[in-house]
Amino acid sequence: MTHQWGREKISMGVDVVIIGGGFAGTSAAITLARANRSVALVDSHQPRNRFSEHSHGVLGFDSASPIQMLESGRQEFQSFGGEVIPETAKSLMPAEGHSHRWTTELESDEVVYSRHVIVATGITDKLPDIPGLEQLWGNRVFHCPYCHGYEAKNKNLAVIGGKNPPFTFRIAKLLTKWTDRVTFYPHGLELSQEEKRLMESLGITIEPNLVQGVRESERFDGGVVLDVGHEKKEYEACFTGPEFVPNDSILKQAGCAVEHGWVKEDSGMTSLEGIWAAGNVISSPDQMPQAMGAGAAVAIKVDQKMFDEDISC
Ligand SMILES: Cc1cc2nc3c(=O)[nH]c(=O)nc-3n(C[C@H](O)[C@H](O)[C@H](O)COP(=O)(O)OP(=O)(O)OC[C@H]3O[C@@H](n4cnc5c(N)ncnc54)[C@H](O)[C@@H]3O)c2cc1C
Repeated sequence: MTHQWGREKISMGVDVVIIGGGFAGTSAAITLARANRSVALVDSHQPRNRFSEHSHGVLGFDSASPIQMLESGRQEFQSFGGEVIPETAKSLMPAEGHSHRWTTELESDEVVYSRHVIVATGITDKLPDIPGLEQLWGNRVFHCPYCHGYEAKNKNLAVIGGKNPPFTFRIAKLLTKWTDRVTFYPHGLELSQEEKRLMESLGITIEPNLVQGVRESERFDGGVVLDVGHEKKEYEACFTGPEFVPNDSILKQAGCAVEHGWVKEDSGMTSLEGIWAAGNVISSPDQMPQAMGAGAAVAIKVDQKMFDEDISC
């Protein structure tokens, strides 16, 4: 164990354990620490956008490094008395025989007791299986037009299909708002006649051949070269549609109700008393500002819930 989490504190428990210290979890942690709650933030430090050097769309922080933003947030949290546990949590279960409601079990087999738990473990992006794509993910290949569309403005752009048909079709069409040079590679996805017609009406070029490889363009800063058949096609920008897989095994194993494959929640409250969720783990479209807002909003709900529990005793 690398952290300084004392055994005494563990057995006493804290008001809130937050699992996941990305944008939602760290924001929730700061809000609760500033509300004078004792908070432990358990984080394996693999935020979804760790591959990007620069992020966009956060007021006052355009082009900032997401890793540095989280580091600053973590330091703020600690300055308000919060405890960071740099570990992976492996399970959540009722704290039998303990004054606190929930037990969070860590990979190190240590446990932390708490009255409430906020799970903000994010999402995993499953990319199309194309050689070279993973290496360029987050620095030359993106998925979200609202995060990186502006940087692709008026550029010659490729969209590669693969894992997430509705999302990929949608972004291919949306990206025509930023540039009129969009080439769509379905890469095995089946396009309905209606979809094809819509894309063509927006001026999108549809390229039916499979993409066999992706690598950096030396000619265009931020561009890519695609291997397509025997040809090399060069683009100034590239997008793809990953499959979004929520990191929600802890919530599901704890017994939270599930709907359409996702953990069921109402404004962050799951079906289990005292277990809450925020950010991408329950909402795949959340960008950084939304995830931060969701974390803060859930934190305030948790604080007020505890306040009401205490005054009704
Ligand atoms: C390539 C890319 C670029 C992006 N660029 C932008 C951008 O420019 N602007 C923007 O607004 N959004 C951007 N996003 C979206 C942004 O990454 C998400 O909105 C944001 O990270 C969601 O925050 P979150 O807290 O829900 O999850 P995350 O930030 O992913 O944090 C989840 C945290 O939980 C931890 N964790 C997971 N499981 C466990 C466990 N069992 N125990 C302990 N810790 C655990 C992870 O290690 C991670 O630290 C981008 C996304 C991608 C993929």
